[in-house]
Amino acid sequence: MLLCNWRQRSDKRSLMGRTPQCPSCKAPLAKIPQRKTKCKACGEFVFVKNTPDNRERRLMTQTQADAAEQTWSGHYANQQAARQAQFTQPALSGDRNAVLEMMKCTRNPEERERWYLLLIEMDLAKLAKRGVRSVQLSGARLCPACEPLNQTIISTSSSARAVIPENCTCDPKGQLALSGWIKRPDGSGYVDQG
Ligand SMILES: [Zn+2]
Ligand SMILES: [Zn+2]
Repeated sequence: MLLCNWRQRSDKRSLMGRTPQCPSCKAPLAKIPQRKTKCKACGEFVFVKNTPDNRERRLMTQTQADAAEQTWSGHYANQQAARQAQFTQPALSGDRNAVLEMMKCTRNPEERERWYLLLIEMDLAKLAKRGVRSVQLSGARLCPACEPLNQTIISTSSSARAVIPENCTCDPKGQLALSGWIKRPDGSGYVDQG
């Protein structure tokens, strides 16, 4: 244990110590680079990076830096897979926050759209259950498919496609928001009342 600690400290010193070296040609560097720099001796780039298993930033060759990047990509992919494993079931069982988590952790636009459709479906059903019969759609910076839907009133028994049309090209898809309890234009009450 003691030996192990001593070795860790020793490694640390040699990595970021007083005599930094070019990781390619081992020529001494004038100072520890803070970011990517070119070695004056060999012309190779010196990278300053860390890895998921060792967060200490250290000097790397191009090849080492590429490998380090690769481990970060794998690390994020694992994190994403873990989140998906955690939230998929609750999302499908109607947990709204879990659906939001699924939308956050997917980078695939089609997948995101499917989760958003589910979210809209859940929201419409919840409003219908509360006795709200119609909702108004509103949004900003809408695509040509969504723009005509702006401010329109739909039934809470509509499908989620009434809110995210099939040919929507918004980025990301689904820019229309639902608002229940629409006021009558004359302010005398709500559209849903009476
Ligand atoms: Zn060098
Ligand atoms: Zn759109």
